[in-house]
Amino acid sequence: MKFRLAFTALMAGSLGAAHAQQTAKPEDTEVWEPVPKVVAPGRTSGEAPSDALVLFNGKSLDEWVTADDRTAPAKWTVTGGILTVNKGTGNIETKRLFTNYQLHLEWRVPANISGTGQARGNSGVFLASLGKGDLGYELQILDAYNNKTYVNGMAGSIYKQLIPLANPARKAGEWQAYDVIWTAPTFAADGAMATPARATVLFNGVVVENNVSLLGPTQYIGKPSYQRHGPAPIKLQAHGDKSEPLSFRNIWVRELPAVGQ
Ligand code: MG
Repeated sequence: MKFRLAFTALMAGSLGAAHAQQTAKPEDTEVWEPVPKVVAPGRTSGEAPSDALVLFNGKSLDEWVTADDRTAPAKWTVTGGILTVNKGTGNIETKRLFTNYQLHLEWRVPANISGTGQARGNSGVFLASLGKGDLGYELQILDAYNNKTYVNGMAGSIYKQLIPLANPARKAGEWQAYDVIWTAPTFAADGAMATPARATVLFNGVVVENNVSLLGPTQYIGKPSYQRHGPAPIKLQAHGDKSEPLSFRNIWVRELPAVGQ
């Protein structure tokens, strides 16, 4: 016992406080309560208005590329008017870049979904993609019907930042709708953040994020912080879990002027 104590003291002394800070874990930024109330949504329509730019019309992926290689076409599967994640080919994102916009998107967790928590129907919409992998601001997509997880990581959350105000999820096998109003962050000449990104999110017609300010791009481990960027693609996530892949349909966007103009 004496030896163990002495050894522990030696380790602590030699490695110091810097080592303790380097042991940050994903769990450190998970929030589990309070759990948003369950709300049964009404009927929703995702029909595109006349001035919308249609990003997926059920037929082609012409508006999309592979996120990790923007010279490569998107390789997800299009059948029967539906877009399905092809996990092996990674995230896809729009060819076009956006700043402020209104986005509509419908997603469906397959009825035969398996897994639990974050490994059950995980995808996401990166409201501004900032590069390869999962760089960007993620609005989480996940089975949220009787599927317990940390509440700042459930469907309708701005991942690991903002808990949804309610849980209007439909069950797996049914189509779900996101309507998002995104206001990009602005930056001063020296690169410092001048105004944060803001998002309003309706999930199946129910407001789950009400003009919230983001702390920065999504961080899986640790705290977010801003770095200057300009217009960016919208990205869809091919999450690496083993559960059955999600599908999407009816994706459109309307560009918006900067707030106040
Ligand atoms: Mg996700």
